[in-house]
Amino acid sequence: MPRSSTPHPASRARAGLGEAERARSFRHRLLAWYARAARDLPWRHTRDPYRVLVSEMMLQQTQVSRVEEFYPRFLARFPDLATLARARPRAVREAWDGLGYYARARNLHALARVVVRRTDATLPDDPAELVKLPGVGPYTAGAVATFAYEKAVPAVDTNASRVIKRVFFGARAARTRPKDVWAVARALVPKDGKRAWRFNQAVMELGALVCRARHPACPVCPVRPACRTGSRLAPNQRGRRHGDESQPTGN
Ligand code: SF4
Repeated sequence: MPRSSTPHPASRARAGLGEAERARSFRHRLLAWYARAARDLPWRHTRDPYRVLVSEMMLQQTQVSRVEEFYPRFLARFPDLATLARARPRAVREAWDGLGYYARARNLHALARVVVRRTDATLPDDPAELVKLPGVGPYTAGAVATFAYEKAVPAVDTNASRVIKRVFFGARAARTRPKDVWAVARALVPKDGKRAWRFNQAVMELGALVCRARHPACPVCPVRPACRTGSRLAPNQRGRRHGDESQPTGN
């Protein structure tokens, strides 16, 4: 948890939550909410590393509804890494047409060609190895490790970062460095791989559906009692949503 933001014991007592308790409460509330509110998305039904990777590449800067449309079509045409590696660039581009940001398709294609030359022709499960592949950054590396291999590692995308900043850094959210957000995420991820999978999905889901960038729904947020930002709401604000002028910062 953020060491430098730990309040003085007196103010901690007033705030009512210590950092360890905040983390426990956040995890518990988040996982309970995810169990009842998560969207049924196609890539949540697979642990196939290639299929997980395709979904993650497609979801970068693209709406879920668009990806839901393109994802099954792309996989029908290129069902595995080997098929994608053999494909002509033009065919890959055609299958990606309409999704935009074509560099993602180029990277995915290049990645497939690199991976099929490996001895096991399989995507690695270690984020430190994954991040060496074309188009794979720290988030995508963590996402493949946790969502395909159920590794107990964090995957911090824009949504997850916003949630962690608001919950654990409160008023300092806007000044928080990415490495501090990742450190908190690392400490929060459950050690059990299946719970880690659910936790990582759940943080991103909360950021997408509730703790949105412009209109966070703090009054109905399941983790609000554990959140440094949402718990600051005045009693008369609890029944309505934030407007732009009063929304939490730190996107
Ligand atoms: S209470 Fe508000 S700021 Fe905190 S996680 Fe929920 S929606 Fe985000």
